[in-house]
Amino acid sequence: MTYALPVLPVPLRPLTTQADLQYHAAPGGGIFNPPSATHMGFWSINPYVGCAFGCAYCYARDTHRYTLERAGPIGEAVAASLPPWQAFERRVLVKEHAGARVREALRSSRSPKPGDSLVIGSATDPYQPAERRFGVTRDVLQALGVVRELSIVIITKSPLVTRDIPLLQRLAEHNRMAVHVSLITVDHELARRIEPRAPTPQARLRGIRRLAESGVEVSVNCMPILPGITDAPEQLSALVQQVAETGAQSLGACALRLRAASRRRYLPVIREQFPALASRYESTYRDSAYARESYRTGLRDAMQKLCDRNGLRFRVYGYDENEREEIQEINTELHISTNQLNLFG
Ligand code: SF4
Repeated sequence: MTYALPVLPVPLRPLTTQADLQYHAAPGGGIFNPPSATHMGFWSINPYVGCAFGCAYCYARDTHRYTLERAGPIGEAVAASLPPWQAFERRVLVKEHAGARVREALRSSRSPKPGDSLVIGSATDPYQPAERRFGVTRDVLQALGVVRELSIVIITKSPLVTRDIPLLQRLAEHNRMAVHVSLITVDHELARRIEPRAPTPQARLRGIRRLAESGVEVSVNCMPILPGITDAPEQLSALVQQVAETGAQSLGACALRLRAASRRRYLPVIREQFPALASRYESTYRDSAYARESYRTGLRDAMQKLCDRNGLRFRVYGYDENEREEIQEINTELHISTNQLNLFG
């Protein structure tokens, strides 16, 4: 038996084109994703569906395809125009009128309440290039100005977040407000091969410094550490050291998880860009989305030591030591090349 996906009430509407990117207005619906829908322990908002940064390891691609398939004939046409991995990067859906939708939701039960956590950018980057044109994330932050006692985290790779420092400072007056900047390597050339359209590591480090200098709580997500590619001790040491020099307060790290949505893109990239690693990846991740336990433990211990040495608080992935409470898996990226540690393989 086959099941048809429910068609969304409002079809996709083309907005504009920018080089090889096409933007469409996303179908309407709730702006806040509740914990009950995502099975994460926090509310979330993703201003865009799809992400032009195009990281090889991204796991959010399936959400984009699912949205397109539900969006009537235009969605089907968009989905059919490119391979799914490329449609995710080049056909970005924009959540219009987000500020008004946030304000409306805040007057109802479909929004976070004092004591809740809210993640902006849990699936796609809220400061990807679309933000310069559409300003959806800024609209959301402005509308959130009335909330109190939330724990708000923004996850991004883009220094564009510094544009909104005044809004972040205002939110921090009545909430816990933090920015988590994703950074898996400080090697410019390596980053280009894995995150081809994302801001350079150096631009991100400058952004982190600006956030820290402005008093905004800022942390780094070294996620995912990519076995054999970014996990060499000297790579990790350089990264932690440079992060510490920015004034960031903490760093979280974890090894690559390779679920179905990410393995369809990531493994072909490995075969093409890092062919010597292909068979090791295929055997390591054949039966599991996770690297071996010994690898993950070794990685965690190595990062803990590096953070201690550089005066950074280490956020254990999935568990915050300071707050003594479980945090959920909210990060997309991490990487470690442990040939020397002999943990991978
Ligand atoms: S990992 Fe993050 S920044 Fe990279 S493509 Fe996915 S959503 Fe965008």
